[in-house]
Amino acid sequence: MIIHCDFKPVELYYSLHELVRLAFPGCQIIQEKGGHHATVVHISMETLEKLAVIRGAVFSPEGNTILREEYNFRRSEAETDDEARWFARRFTYQLLCQHIDKNINSYGLLTGVRPVKLVHRFLDRGLSKRDIADILQDDYMLNQEKAALLLEVAENNRPFLLTPEKAKKMVSIYIGIPFCPSRCYYCSFPGAVLKDYDSEIKPFLQALYIEMNRMADCLQEQDISIQSVYIGGGTPTVLSAKDLEEMLDLLNSRYISHRTQEITVEAGRPDTLDPGKLKILKQAGVDRICVNPQSMNDSTLKLIGRNHNQEGVVRSIEWVREAGIRQINMDLIVGLPGEKLPENTSTADEILKLGPENVTVHTLSFKRGSEMAAVEGKDEIDDRVREVQTGVEYFSCKLREAGYMPYYMYRQKYMKAGMENTGYTLPGQECLYNIQMIEERQTIIGMGGGAASKFINTADWKLTSSYNPKDPAAYCESIEKLIKRKVDKLWALN
Ligand code: SF4
Repeated sequence: MIIHCDFKPVELYYSLHELVRLAFPGCQIIQEKGGHHATVVHISMETLEKLAVIRGAVFSPEGNTILREEYNFRRSEAETDDEARWFARRFTYQLLCQHIDKNINSYGLLTGVRPVKLVHRFLDRGLSKRDIADILQDDYMLNQEKAALLLEVAENNRPFLLTPEKAKKMVSIYIGIPFCPSRCYYCSFPGAVLKDYDSEIKPFLQALYIEMNRMADCLQEQDISIQSVYIGGGTPTVLSAKDLEEMLDLLNSRYISHRTQEITVEAGRPDTLDPGKLKILKQAGVDRICVNPQSMNDSTLKLIGRNHNQEGVVRSIEWVREAGIRQINMDLIVGLPGEKLPENTSTADEILKLGPENVTVHTLSFKRGSEMAAVEGKDEIDDRVREVQTGVEYFSCKLREAGYMPYYMYRQKYMKAGMENTGYTLPGQECLYNIQMIEERQTIIGMGGGAASKFINTADWKLTSSYNPKDPAAYCESIEKLIKRKVDKLWALN
């Protein structure tokens, strides 16, 4: 479907186009007036002294027309730009809902990845929960259920946010190992499917060690300590026991101190774990492991290209427990091919029997570049996503009944059916890294393939980012440039 967008001033496009995409999922947007053969969205806004006037119209090829006009008196000159943008978004949202004749997004105007951040900003200003719920529903147009979820998550993770003084002197680190034993059906991660260990892993690790040493120098010069470590990927446990040990030795000698509270290793594929590697992880201080089954149904696991079955997951969890590692997270995906409520029910039952401290419930999303997108196409995946809402609600009820609570959540752009990815925890077992990374109140230094770094200015919680390439060869080639960029950004904060 083609949608012509005619926005004046044209800068409004950046604030409004995502709302148009929510109203017309999968549409192609063309930034011009257009003719009678396509749907046309007109928005024009004029700002005069303290008054903003906005007019809008939607014309459909069938001849339906919706018109709308509003005036807004701005409260202060200082807020002019932000306020005008918010006014335009709210107006456009209402216009599009009127045209479609239903709510286009259960998160209302919140189209970003981290909606809980807004709740924390209101809490910082001393607003009560009731006031925030009203603002979310009346001004940002969230439905009641989503507003309540955001408040609940914020309340559960707020005790773990650092004060500006502490956040200045304590960061978390991420290490990305961008290799996997094979590519999962739904994954678009363009890291490498490991073919030859020596020629691929060895140069990557050499570059990683250079980066780890140089960033450690920089942190030490600024007297900054490490609160939490997350080793992700890819699949870090694809590394041999010897290489895993070497990397963890370097981590311990350069980063870990008595102030470090958590070290997580993602063993995404249960088939990459064994008791020998778990012993090494435990001895190196790793205290949280992610064993990610995605589903506990063997036919689904086969279909999505995982090299393990349910039995393998159960065995890995037993090994992790035997190794004495204190926390286990298990990731699930709702909406995998062939899965409906009965499959979700069996996965929930099997997972709960294993008693992981954390469970993360993801909703399937369309990922360009995945085999699933190529084989099934966007529409087929979107159709399936409609069933996902039921599955997500089911997991939420089951986990809450079993004593888990939601403590971090994030969304992906244009997520369907008003969904989200939610991390659940048993009380007292929250993952610090996930909270700090999602709420963006602490600097994260990302090293390795595909690692994102975020540099947080504690004066206003604004951030700048820096990204390492996901492709291992590109990472190795640009290592000096990547380090310099991060060192400069870190010094700029202090
Ligand atoms: S293990 Fe994770 S990163 Fe690797 S292919 Fe599967 S989903 Fe992608």
